[in-house]
Amino acid sequence: MASYAKLLEGYKAFRSQYLSQENSAWLSEAKDGQSPKVMIIACSDSRVNPAIITRASLGDIFVVNNVANLVPPYHESGNTHHSTSAAIEFAVIHLKVEHIVIMGHSGCGGIRALMADHDNPKPENPEPAKHYSFIRPWMQIVDDAAVFTDQEKAADIESRAKICEQRASLISLKNLVTFPWVKEAMTQNRLKIHAWHYDIGEGLLLEYNEGSEQFEELT
Ligand SMILES: [Zn+2]
Repeated sequence: MASYAKLLEGYKAFRSQYLSQENSAWLSEAKDGQSPKVMIIACSDSRVNPAIITRASLGDIFVVNNVANLVPPYHESGNTHHSTSAAIEFAVIHLKVEHIVIMGHSGCGGIRALMADHDNPKPENPEPAKHYSFIRPWMQIVDDAAVFTDQEKAADIESRAKICEQRASLISLKNLVTFPWVKEAMTQNRLKIHAWHYDIGEGLLLEYNEGSEQFEELT
């Protein structure tokens, strides 16, 4: 696993190779602005970095990382901190991205927490927790994914987790369309939205196919 010192070494190589040799022309343009065509909403998980997995370059993708790659539904409110919603607004209205990808993955800790909560609901008046947990209310955005997973009655935990991860991404996909400017851009064929599921052990990327209603391997 990479230590902090290894990252600093990587930064030196980035300066000497990536910037000065491979991308010097791009660098002179980049200081004036960005125009990525793709936004990816990925998990914060250290094993799922969309830029590395897609071999993207600087400037290619506008990325949001959050726990379990969730999109909350559109909700007008002046006094809450909707960082993901703000990023979607910036990407669609100002950058005019042409694609938004929700990128889920195998072994997602956020989804595991959601499933654990669902399997062992907390009593109505629990002992007050020592510290407030932000994860539980965040994961409630995709609570229906846990309900759906129960109905599917898969036997082993890995299959259940995969069902829940994929379902959660589809809920986020649906939530994306609740943002008026997302819906408008889609209606005008300026924007396409996608759900991916990345299998960490296999290094395989699947994409949801609306026709077959299945996640299928990207070829
Ligand atoms: Zn995750």
